[in-house]
Amino acid sequence: MHRKTLIIGAGGVGNVVAFKCAMNEAVFGKIILASRTVSKCDLIAARVKEKTGVQLYTTRIDADSVSDLVDLIRHIKADIVINVALPYQDLTIMEACIQTGVNYLDTANYEHPDTAHFEYKEQWAKETQFKNAGIMGLLGSGFDPGVTNVFCAYAQKHYFDEIHTIDILDCNAGDHGYPFATNFNPEINLREVSAKGRYWQRNDQGEGEWIETEPMAIRQLWDYPEIGPRESYLLYHEEMESLVKHIKGLKCIRFFMSFGESYLTHMKCLENIGMLGIKPVEHKGQKIVPIEFLSTLLPDPASLGERTKGKTNIGIFAKGIKEGKPRTIYIYQVSDHEQCYAEVMSQAVSYTTGVPAMIGAKLMLDGIWQGKGVFNMEEFDPDPFMEELNSQGLPWQIMELDADADLRIKEAGA
Ligand code: NDP
Repeated sequence: MHRKTLIIGAGGVGNVVAFKCAMNEAVFGKIILASRTVSKCDLIAARVKEKTGVQLYTTRIDADSVSDLVDLIRHIKADIVINVALPYQDLTIMEACIQTGVNYLDTANYEHPDTAHFEYKEQWAKETQFKNAGIMGLLGSGFDPGVTNVFCAYAQKHYFDEIHTIDILDCNAGDHGYPFATNFNPEINLREVSAKGRYWQRNDQGEGEWIETEPMAIRQLWDYPEIGPRESYLLYHEEMESLVKHIKGLKCIRFFMSFGESYLTHMKCLENIGMLGIKPVEHKGQKIVPIEFLSTLLPDPASLGERTKGKTNIGIFAKGIKEGKPRTIYIYQVSDHEQCYAEVMSQAVSYTTGVPAMIGAKLMLDGIWQGKGVFNMEEFDPDPFMEELNSQGLPWQIMELDADADLRIKEAGA
């Protein structure tokens, strides 16, 4: 049987997925890369051909149109659709998969262009339709969400009877040399970072509740292995929404991301003057959305690869109990921007997202992760995914600490 894999989206992440699927050609078969701007697909296909010898096929698609998607998926006879376009396209692509009976995977939860709100509600609502169509949807198969969920499932399976607290840590210590740029789609990145913070904890009655904070209101200094101390800020991040449902005994889960001073100063200034606005404004008789205009001005994240130096460290710091005794571990992965670029011509943020997208799709195609309905990553056996991470370019480490130890240097608020 010759499989056919449809990748939608030819940005930084799409480039990595295309490379990695080509490097696993025996699993993915014929690979078709489709996106809004076909010239970007062609450029990626040319690079993949040059570096791996594998021929990709390219085509244009408007992923906002369900009927266009249905036509394309039927024409190709795709076995799986890997969605690495923008979160705005999740629902249309899922709908097209339902209509054609084809498995679906993405790396980020649905967002409506007009409201910066991250939640799984609308994707989870497709559970029955996915079941009825006899297909599987794997949600959030990037790094965070994605690998972070798998790390939590692995910790739950092998290290704890109960996990009580999880801090998901995301540090990018890479330097691209620009005063200000984002490492993935600027619009999506700035919407995420400028939104209010939120974390989850159980109250005295044992009920889970979400606590909202002002954007960047909680700051902590974490000591990241292989990088060192970095100021990190509490953000809301989508994997927490599914993890609170699936991790036993959880009492608190938070997400921290590191930011440099220059990034924060620029972002604050842009926010103060209205450049992060998502509502259209009138300019010389034309309507423009400030954050879309800003995206046009900022460097294309796909172009940062060859200039970025330094490392990323993303992991989960978990505390809980095993056989009645307290336990503390940090499971993490370190990537090097220059090594990622040397392999697939992308910086580490795209690399660490694209590799897990390929692995999720590989496990689905091979029937190792299977089911009917819509799933988050931690619902499956983490072991085969963890093995693939080691062999596909994202080797991970586990640090066992003293039960009362901390990687946090100070617990200060900003
Ligand atoms: P880019 O902006 O670099 O790429 C997005 C691609 O999608 C572009 O090629 C764009 O086309 C294409 N696209 C946008 N709209 C449409 C449409 N209507 N029809 C067809 N194609 C479309 O983004 P990234 O590659 O950085 O990110 C891709 C995804 O990965 C995003 O959803 C992002 O949120 C997610 N992500 C997930 C992470 C994780 O760890 N889970 C981390 C980082 C990113 P065009 O070239 O014409 O603009």
